[in-house]
Amino acid sequence: MKYGKIVCMNSKIDQKQQISALSDKLRNYQDAYYRKGRQKISDLEYDRLFDELLRLEDINPELRLQDSPTHRVGSDLSSELPEVSHTIPVLSLDKAYTLEAVVGWMQKTAVKAGRDLSFTVEEKIDGVSIVLYYKQGVLERAVTRGNGYVGNDVTANVRTIRSVPLRLKRPVSLAVRGEIYLPIEAFTRLNKKMDVPYANPRNLTAGTIRRIKSRETAAIPMEIFVYEGFFENSNDQPEMHSELTALLDDLGFRTNSRFGIFTRDGKFNQPLLPGWTLGSFSRLGTFIEKSIAARETLGYEIDGLVVKVNELDVREELGYTGHHPRWEVAYKFESPEGETVVEGIDVQVGRTGRITPVARVKPVKIGGSVVSNVTLHNQDYINILELSVGDTVAVSKRGDVIPAVERVLEKSEVENETGAVSGIWKIPSECPSCGTVLEKIGAHTFCTNPECPDQLFGRMQFFTAKAQMDIENLGPETIQFLMREGFLKDIPDIYRIDYRKLAGNPGFGEKKCELLQNGVEKSRKKPFSSVLASLGIPDLGKKSVELLLDDGIDDIDALFAIVDQGDTDRLIGIKGFGTKTVESIMSELSKPVIRERIRLLREIGLLFRQEKRALGDLPAQVFIGQVWCVTGSFIHFSPRSKAMETVKLGGGRVVTAVTGSTTHLLAGSGVGSKLKKAESLDIRIVTEDEFLEML
Ligand SMILES: [Zn+2]
Repeated sequence: MKYGKIVCMNSKIDQKQQISALSDKLRNYQDAYYRKGRQKISDLEYDRLFDELLRLEDINPELRLQDSPTHRVGSDLSSELPEVSHTIPVLSLDKAYTLEAVVGWMQKTAVKAGRDLSFTVEEKIDGVSIVLYYKQGVLERAVTRGNGYVGNDVTANVRTIRSVPLRLKRPVSLAVRGEIYLPIEAFTRLNKKMDVPYANPRNLTAGTIRRIKSRETAAIPMEIFVYEGFFENSNDQPEMHSELTALLDDLGFRTNSRFGIFTRDGKFNQPLLPGWTLGSFSRLGTFIEKSIAARETLGYEIDGLVVKVNELDVREELGYTGHHPRWEVAYKFESPEGETVVEGIDVQVGRTGRITPVARVKPVKIGGSVVSNVTLHNQDYINILELSVGDTVAVSKRGDVIPAVERVLEKSEVENETGAVSGIWKIPSECPSCGTVLEKIGAHTFCTNPECPDQLFGRMQFFTAKAQMDIENLGPETIQFLMREGFLKDIPDIYRIDYRKLAGNPGFGEKKCELLQNGVEKSRKKPFSSVLASLGIPDLGKKSVELLLDDGIDDIDALFAIVDQGDTDRLIGIKGFGTKTVESIMSELSKPVIRERIRLLREIGLLFRQEKRALGDLPAQVFIGQVWCVTGSFIHFSPRSKAMETVKLGGGRVVTAVTGSTTHLLAGSGVGSKLKKAESLDIRIVTEDEFLEML
């Protein structure tokens, strides 16, 4: 036993050494490749070593190094993104909008310092601000800016970014500030594949950094530029910002070479990195103009330039205002955005119970109109923005239609009412309308109480609107009044209003009551398709209802029968219906509250059966009760849809796939797998000639 234990320990030591050696080797290869574009070994050999390291780490997870190169590929494990305090100041910048203002600030600052100063100018990358903490040269933690004091730990995600060094050239301890961004080319390519496209690369970057699974982050080719460093040992800290930047570069960080140093006489006795510009103050204007001109060709987005005092000791003397460092200023480019303050965040409950947070902002003029309410979509969106009440934000009008919060410009100093320390507003846990505990379903939050007053109001407003049942004289205000006075509780009540009781209420003279009654009565004649789509059942909008009817499901009983039998195949067979839609429709129509609403409306006399279409010259009953699948090409029916139409006109149903419920396969020439499937299921196969004969 003892002997066995020693062997085991030895092998553990061996494996530890192996892991360490492999990690070093692979890290060097990665570094050479991603930083310098050099490939030192073949892909095959690289993959072999990488797989070996993964295998060893898999058996000995406790031996995996913090800077293991395997962190680059991310993980499928969920991480919580806990809140972490910053140990360095992470403030936002004071802003200037003209060159004159920048020069004025430089002069004022030099006067305050009481000596000649040099200034640096760098691009202000329009990305996501991050703080990287290194201990003894190893990346220990990556934290979002948050409110400047507390941010979220996103280490696993940031480790997947190739240009973030996992280990530095020297074992120093420091905190580094940088900006993570997504190159425009990658953004354009990736955004095409998104369900909901992002407005700009920054928002996609912010969303990616906050992914729960780092494997998903690893798939997005983000980059970083670092621009500030704070060494733990103050002896390590250089004297000048330019020197610091060169040092960061030397340690293995990616710094932006579009860097300018400006002094009174244009002279500077320190080494410069390749690509840097040196000049006298009189050259500053030209440098800024050139920077603006280069904007279109950079391949990444910038929203301004940052001017900083180069002398770090002066920075310490100047200090901070509480909002901003006094030693740097952002020269902001003009943009079609407005700057405003979030005065509050309202929570709206939609007719489906979906909760939508809406920012109430101090009215701001953007592109000729005044914006005072901006939708925030859901909690994820708020998290991406790291937004809270009191924050100063940039608001844009995307496509000149819907106003959107682009980003937080400055965090509020006051803790918001939800007490979120990270400075991110949270959707309340209870419905503001009915007090029910809210549920997160997918990306959104819902109130699931079917009796919720706000939902009922939303539902009735939708039902009566012009695009649906088009009930005249029953607008939102009237609905609200009728709800308040107890005349309306749910949709069916619209047809049971006691007008004698209503007459005489403020604003409800005889004439008004008559108009309202006429509007309500007129809506009784609306066809089944309108009635069904007006109920506001999720995934049963106008288009879905149209598809159902086209497929022959033209009365509510037929639809209920499908739902009750759990015949999902029947609905999935409908072109345009995905699995998700079908599941949603099945689940919604199984709900007792929806069944009851429909039962009552039916009792009232609304139409729940579509009028049959004219069948033309065809014998109407010829295909009734049959389920046809049509495949291949035909001589008399081209395009193929003509044959499908014929089946439908004859009372049959058409499906796109052969399933157990299919009764006939109409097989043209060039049929493939469907024929085999039909044969295996013993489905009647009909040729074009036979079909014509049947007609
Ligand atoms: Zn509610």
